[in-house]
Amino acid sequence: MNDKLRINGDRLLERLMTMAKIGSTPKGGVCRVALSDEDKSGRDLFAEWCRVAGCDVRIDRVGNIFARRRGLRDDLLPVLTGSHLDSQPTGGKYDGVYGVLAALAVIETLDDAGIETQHPVEIVSWTNEEGARFAPGLTGSGVYTGHLSLDQMLGTIDKQGLKFDDELQRIGYAGEIQPGDQCFAAAIEIHIEQGPVLEAEKKVIGIVSGVQGMRWYDLVFTGQEAHAGTTPMDRRRDPAAAAVRVLQQIYALNDKHAPHGRATFGDFKAEPGSRNTVPGRLIISLDFRHPDSAILDEVDREIRSIMNRECHEIGLEGQVDEIWSMPPVTFSTQCRSAIQRSVDMLGYPSMEMISGAGHDAMYLSSITPTGMIFIPCKDGLSHNELEHAEPENLVAGSNVLLHTILDLANPQSEKPKVQ
Ligand SMILES: [Zn+2]
Repeated sequence: MNDKLRINGDRLLERLMTMAKIGSTPKGGVCRVALSDEDKSGRDLFAEWCRVAGCDVRIDRVGNIFARRRGLRDDLLPVLTGSHLDSQPTGGKYDGVYGVLAALAVIETLDDAGIETQHPVEIVSWTNEEGARFAPGLTGSGVYTGHLSLDQMLGTIDKQGLKFDDELQRIGYAGEIQPGDQCFAAAIEIHIEQGPVLEAEKKVIGIVSGVQGMRWYDLVFTGQEAHAGTTPMDRRRDPAAAAVRVLQQIYALNDKHAPHGRATFGDFKAEPGSRNTVPGRLIISLDFRHPDSAILDEVDREIRSIMNRECHEIGLEGQVDEIWSMPPVTFSTQCRSAIQRSVDMLGYPSMEMISGAGHDAMYLSSITPTGMIFIPCKDGLSHNELEHAEPENLVAGSNVLLHTILDLANPQSEKPKVQ
């Protein structure tokens, strides 16, 4: 019936470029860090577009923006779609903002075609997804779903000593509504992949089956400080000597779980950190990810035993501290099949995939059936000013979003008998 319906691609692309001017950087990226003046301008522009589209715009206490298009049955729960407008300090034009503006394009397309849906459709722009200025990220969706505390987030301080709540008030986005005030029938987020897989596989659409689980550790090696010139090698209790072996074995362990395992040692701290002293302590961060929680548990046990064995052999003390973890998320079959039906109808080449990055959809999936759509980005580059997505893919993804939303907002059982 509505199979011929397509979004207005030119308007979507024009909007993306207009938004990219706010906080634009010389290398073609954007700097629209959460709760900055640029974030305010981006929010203002988006909220204005939503009002012009006839939506009812509401702001909650953590600054999340909701824009609602009425349904034929306004008593039904809304179908939610959106992402985030904030960026990394040297971010790209598409990360987050594409998901918000594609959602707006869906609503405008329905308006242009005079199509009403059973369920209301609601656009969201979540606050501080990136966490570049205020940590942790995924703030808006985290508070909304009860994973993060509102009071704690409002009290968070940035590097300049500025408080989250003061900045939120300053830009005029500390709303009255309590976050988490309403439930949703379903939630769909569209995002650039931020990785190289779709491009390499020559696919236009990624149907995201879930988000891999993450565990953050500190590996702490404690030995003895000693003079770099006078202490013979065999008399040292050298944390670096154990670390070399441990890291190598963790890489090998990760290889056992290819292609999904991801082991990253991103931060090294030596104490006292002097060029001519054998360090007394070495702390190495480990970020380990995998989509299967049984494997995450197995890896956890292995890491601890590798650490024990190797440190013991060199006469060191080894300790594994778990800092933070996030279990793997599997998205709802209802949402995945709605996306699949839309892709099949539109005829775009697609594949199922796991998200390597965390997204607001991850938190949403704990309160509502949730799904995600990915489109390719050039060379898999993101969190980078050179981030790029092809116009035809941006439009294709939005068409998939459009038909997925139509599908979810008009469930068969709730369709009116007489058309
Ligand atoms: Zn993002």
